[in-house]
Order: sequence, then structure tokens, then C-alpha cells
Amino acid sequence: VDTLREGIFICGCAQGPKDIADTVAQASAAAGRALRLISQGRIVIEPIKAYVIEELCDGCGKCIDKCPLGAITIENKIARVNEAICNGCGSCIPYCPRNAIDLKHYTEEQLIEEIKALLASKEEGEVRVIAFFDDSCTYRAADLAGTSRLTYTSKVRVVRIPSSSRLTPRIILSAFKYGADGVFIGDCLPGGSPYHPRVLDVINDLIRKTRTLMRRYRIDARRLRFDTIAVDTAERLAKDLDELVVLVERLGPLKPEDRDRIKV
Ligand code: SF4
Ligand code: SF4
Repeated sequence: VDTLREGIFICGCAQGPKDIADTVAQASAAAGRALRLISQGRIVIEPIKAYVIEELCDGCGKCIDKCPLGAITIENKIARVNEAICNGCGSCIPYCPRNAIDLKHYTEEQLIEEIKALLASKEEGEVRVIAFFDDSCTYRAADLAGTSRLTYTSKVRVVRIPSSSRLTPRIILSAFKYGADGVFIGDCLPGGSPYHPRVLDVINDLIRKTRTLMRRYRIDARRLRFDTIAVDTAERLAKDLDELVVLVERLGPLKPEDRDRIKV
């Protein structure tokens, strides 16, 4: 009975064809969920929300249609995010031409600094892969790989993010610039994400744009791999990571002059 918007529930024929018994059962469930929220007297919202850097925003409105929840409006020529609606999917971020919108607790600069730290201990001639794992599916699959005692390559360093739609070409290219030889991005299968289904289009668009930039910088675009991962497919995740590392080892580490060409 839950919907993509917290606090809005759906039941009965509003959801799809149902008989009376199922409709009544769903209506009770929806009423119970609503009552639980109301009885608390206050609503607790997640702190991970998009925010606008007002000095950079020119009110162009390009982010508005990109938000699948309609959380963005323009007021006094500046974008505003309704925090009660925003679920922190990050889908609006890669489309802002002025880098004027970012995600609290997972800002672009924070992620780039994390990447730099993960690559700081890399030895000369060593190959290293940065892997962005979305919190809901890929990170949990990796957790499962750990508890199931599956092994995967030690050449991978993981960056945990709410959703890969939060990434930008600049973040991915920064990984290559600061020492990565391959980048892996894992996110939920269609229908498996807690976010709107449109985030998958955003991620595919992001991968396409980043690969175009990689070609422009003469970096082999196969060094960037995106896979959809289900929580219970830890073995596949381990295999995908191993495959990328084998490919990157075959291509060899990027040379300093390759990294110098990348502008971030
Ligand atoms: S796309 Fe960027 S600059 Fe344009 S309104 Fe949105 S936040 Fe502002
Ligand atoms: S983070 Fe997602 S939900 Fe929030 S404003 Fe951006 S697109 Fe909308």
C-alpha cells in the first residue's frame, strides 16, 4: 500500500483490479499505515536531500522536469527543493548546467575527496578499480558476498552512495584522474530500487555522457562498467568485478599523461 511518496498510500481498485476481500484488506492496511504516521504527532524525514546553491542557480528550471517526484519549483528565479517530498535520489543533479544543485551528506566534493583517499595508497604499476555501490541493492549484495564468504578481487575500493543517479560525469572522471584504472557502477534492477523507476534512465544517460567524455580524453570507454544488481546476486557481483579487473589489467594502468588530459 506504500507509494513512492512517503505518507501517501494506495489501496483497492485505485491500484489495479481487485475483488472486495482484497480491497477491504488493503484498505485496513493503508488506514493502519496512515494512523501510525499521524499518531506520532511529528514526521521524521531522512536527512539526505537535494539542496540548491543559490549563488550558482540562475533559475533556468532544467532540473524541474528531471525530478520524478515534482519536488523542485522556482521561486524568485531560484530553484527550491521541497524537503518533505525529495527522497534524495539525486536524479536532478547531473542535469544542472551550473552545478547549482547537490546532495546533502553525499556532495560532489565529499565523494571526490573520498575517491582521492581510497586511491592515495596505490602503488606504482598497480591496477585499482573504484566501485560505486548503491545502498539499496549493490551494497547489500556485497554484504551478502561477505557473509557468504564469497571472494572478489582485492583491487576494488568501494564508494557507497544512495543511488547511482546521484553521480555526475565529473565524479566518475575524477576517479580516473586521481588514480583509478577502472570504474564499476552497480545499481538496482528495474523495479528493485526504492527510488522512482526513472532513475535507471538517468543512470544510463550519465554512463553515455561519461563514456563520450572518456573517448574525448582518449580513455578506453570499456574501463567504465555499469551493471544492475539484485540483493541476492552476490555471486554475479563478484564475477562482474573480477571481469572488469581482468579487462583493466589487460589494458594496463592508465599513464600519467592519460590522467593529465582529463579535465574535472
Ligand atoms: S538546473 Fe541548476 S541552475 Fe537551473 S534552476 Fe535547477 S538548480 Fe538552478
Ligand atoms: S534528489 Fe531526487 S527527489 Fe530530490 S529533488 Fe532531486 S530528483 Fe527530486
